[in-house]
Amino acid sequence: MNQHTPEQPADTVARLRATFRSGRTKPVEWRTAQLRRLREMLTTDGADLAAALHADLGKSSTEAFRTEIDFTVREIDHTLEHLEGWLHPESAPVPTHLGADATAWTQYDPLGVVLVIAPWNYPAQLLLTPLLGALAAGNAVVVKPSEMAPATSTALARMLPQYLDTDAVAVVEGGIPETTALLAERFDHIFYTGNGAVGRIVMRAAAEHLTPVTLELGGKSPAFVDGDADLSVVADRLVRGKFLNAGQTCVAPDYVLTDPATARALEPLFAKAVEALYGSEPQTSAEYGRIVNERHFDRLVGLLDSGRVVTGGDSDRAAKYIAPTVLADVDPKAPVMREEIFGPVLPIVTVSGLDEAIEFINDRDKPLAFYVFTDSDTTRRRLAAETSSGGLGFGLPLAHLTVSDLPFGGVGESGMGNYHGRYSIETFSHRKAILAKPLA
Ligand code: NAD
Repeated sequence: MNQHTPEQPADTVARLRATFRSGRTKPVEWRTAQLRRLREMLTTDGADLAAALHADLGKSSTEAFRTEIDFTVREIDHTLEHLEGWLHPESAPVPTHLGADATAWTQYDPLGVVLVIAPWNYPAQLLLTPLLGALAAGNAVVVKPSEMAPATSTALARMLPQYLDTDAVAVVEGGIPETTALLAERFDHIFYTGNGAVGRIVMRAAAEHLTPVTLELGGKSPAFVDGDADLSVVADRLVRGKFLNAGQTCVAPDYVLTDPATARALEPLFAKAVEALYGSEPQTSAEYGRIVNERHFDRLVGLLDSGRVVTGGDSDRAAKYIAPTVLADVDPKAPVMREEIFGPVLPIVTVSGLDEAIEFINDRDKPLAFYVFTDSDTTRRRLAAETSSGGLGFGLPLAHLTVSDLPFGGVGESGMGNYHGRYSIETFSHRKAILAKPLA
């Protein structure tokens, strides 16, 4: 390929489609070889990738490895261990009218050329995990990193071609014009992670070609805290989940929903938990991240006066720093409750009890995650049965997405489709129905 004239999207897709048509991506040996190469990239160049994540988001090396690099390595290892088993044809019972000699089964066919569009908040994990799933399913893949995490985008565009089959994997960097041009092409699946407004643009473009989509979106993920729970454990776990990556996590607890007495008891415990994690001056903590850009910084600062500050509240625009902040006495109509926060601000909203909490959640868009802190089995059962969310976490925020055997995805406004582990194979394959009847 000519180094000086970037390949046009139509040419990239045609090139990858030719590779797919040649059959090269189908054998399981090719798939596992790609996964092993990707693993090698992460172990060999992991420190460079961590440096890029630090440049983009002030992510500490510990956090970069834990939530992006090692996370992806674990997902690769899980896939390598189970892939052949997952791909095994599955037999189906045949009705008697077809005769005793008829057999039926399903087989996973790769889809073809897949487009993966990634966001900026976990710019490595959220590009590489769909990529490895699409490769494991035997597809050729175009990946589009987020232009809002430019250092990571550059690093991935440099590294991926060094390790993977460049006839089957292409990295296209850029922003809206480049993504729009890509979306005009015909893909066999589009996997988009980001916000719902762009999700709609992606789905409209996909409709032109009847291309199926997976939309991994966001929203306001509530955390319900019951008065019977051990509140210092709750405060500690919520603070860890909320302020990871400075709150810029799609499954971060967005707000706390509890009764007034529990809210009062939680307030000092939140302040204590923040101090235990980041010290009395979080701005000096190497473990605490930064806001991705000035636009998001200004948006988040505008949410800081939505309630009484329990801890935090200060910010530094030049450093894109916003303190881990907890707000109490927050009105459900306050600005902080009108949009997904996607930053280090945790509002506490009070309800009279469980019934009102269920009403509150069901009155709003279906969240990507819902977290419940209670010792009561009855309360757990009721919340599981009476609310709908992409995932449900009892006692621990975020962790469900680290379980490779669980599907990760949203419902309603928080998205459609899911992935991770064998669910990535489901997403990036067609399950073909096969019936066979002997001729004699
Ligand atoms: P973003 O701005 O990086 O956008 C995501 C991608 O969409 C980028 O690659 C970008 O280039 C592309 N894009 C932006 N505008 C476009 C347009 N007009 N046309 C075509 N493509 C366009 O990321 P974001 O949307 O700010 O990400 C934050 C949102 O993503 C939050 O709502 C968050 O909850 C959600 N999110 C969800 C998950 C998940 O797994 N469900 C993970 C992370 C983030």
